[in-house]
Amino acid sequence: MSNQPTAIALFSGGLDSILACRVVAEQGVRVRALKFVTPFFDYDLLAREAQYRKKIREKYDIDVEIRDITDLYLDMLLDPPHGFGKHFNPCIDCKILMLIEAKKLMAAYQASFIITGEVVGQRPMSQRKDTLRVIERDSGTDSLLLRPLCAKSQKPTAAELAGIIDREKLPYCSGRGRSQQIELAAGFGITGYPSPAGGCKLTDPNLAKQIKTLFSRKDMVNRDNVRFLLVGRQFRLPHGGWLAIGRSQDENDAVLGLWQPGDLVLKLNDRPGPTALLRYSSHPADISLSAALVVRYGKKIPGGPLEVEVIVRQDQRDTILRSSPLPDEQLAGLTII
Ligand code: SF4
Repeated sequence: MSNQPTAIALFSGGLDSILACRVVAEQGVRVRALKFVTPFFDYDLLAREAQYRKKIREKYDIDVEIRDITDLYLDMLLDPPHGFGKHFNPCIDCKILMLIEAKKLMAAYQASFIITGEVVGQRPMSQRKDTLRVIERDSGTDSLLLRPLCAKSQKPTAAELAGIIDREKLPYCSGRGRSQQIELAAGFGITGYPSPAGGCKLTDPNLAKQIKTLFSRKDMVNRDNVRFLLVGRQFRLPHGGWLAIGRSQDENDAVLGLWQPGDLVLKLNDRPGPTALLRYSSHPADISLSAALVVRYGKKIPGGPLEVEVIVRQDQRDTILRSSPLPDEQLAGLTII
C-alpha cells in the first residue's frame, strides 16, 4: 500500500517485546511481529494460531504471526557455537537463529529493519552489552537491528540514520529493574501482560537434564522424539524401551497424538487411567513393566483386585495383559529419562 515503513519484530509475548512493538509503531512504522516456536517454547500455539493472533491484536494492538523453527533449532541445539546458559539453554544462539530467520523474511514483508525487546543488562548472559554486539554480528543483522527499549545506549542503526525512527522519542530502559517498562506499559494502557518468568523448557532444571540426555544420543534427536520427551512421566526401560505416561486427560491425548508406526499404546481396560506410549521396544519384559507402570498410575478401586487388565495395542491389534501395580522398590530402580 503506502510508503509506510515496515519492521519485523521478534515477539516473545513478554512485556519487553510488546513494548518494543508499540514504541516503534508509535513512530508510524508498521510492525509485523513474529513469534517463533519450537517444542521447547510455545509449540502449543501452532494448534490455535488464529485464536492467539486475535488475542494479541485485541490486547496489545499488535499483528503477530507464528513460525515453527523446530528443525533449524534442533540442529543448532546439537552444538550451539556460543554454548549453554545455566541449564540446556543456548540463549545467545537461540537469538542469533531467530534474527537470521527474521532477516530472511525481510524482503517478503518489505521490512527495512528488525526490532527486539532486548534491554542491556537485563539478563546475565544474553543481554550484556558485549553479548548484544555478538548477537547482531553473528546474525548478520548489524545496523538492521534496532532495540528500541535501549537504543539510546547503542550506536545508531539504519532506521535511525534513515530518519524512520527518532531515537529521542524512544524510551531508555536498562538493567534488571522493571519499573521503566511498567510505567511505559501503563502509558499505553497495557495491562495483564505475562510475568517475565518465561516458559522455555530449556531453562527448567529437570526438563533440561532430560533434554540433555536425549541430545547425547544424536541419532535419536528429531522433532517427534523431542515432543515425546516433553510429555508425561518418562521412563527408560531395561530392553531399550522408552515409555511416556500421561498425567492428565490433556497429556493422555497428547501422548496418543504422538503415536507413530512401531509404537505400542497401553491403557487400562476397565477403569480410568493413563494412556502410555512405548517406543523403541516390543520386548515382552518392557511391555510387562510398562503395563505395571500404567496400573500403578491408574485409578485404584478400594477393595478391588490388585491385578487389573491392561490393553496393549500393537500394529492395530489389541491384547490384554493382567498386571499388578509396579511396587515402589522397582520404581526406584527405573531410570527416569
Ligand atoms: S530462554 Fe529459551 S527461548 Fe529464551 S533465549 Fe534462551 S533458549 Fe531462547
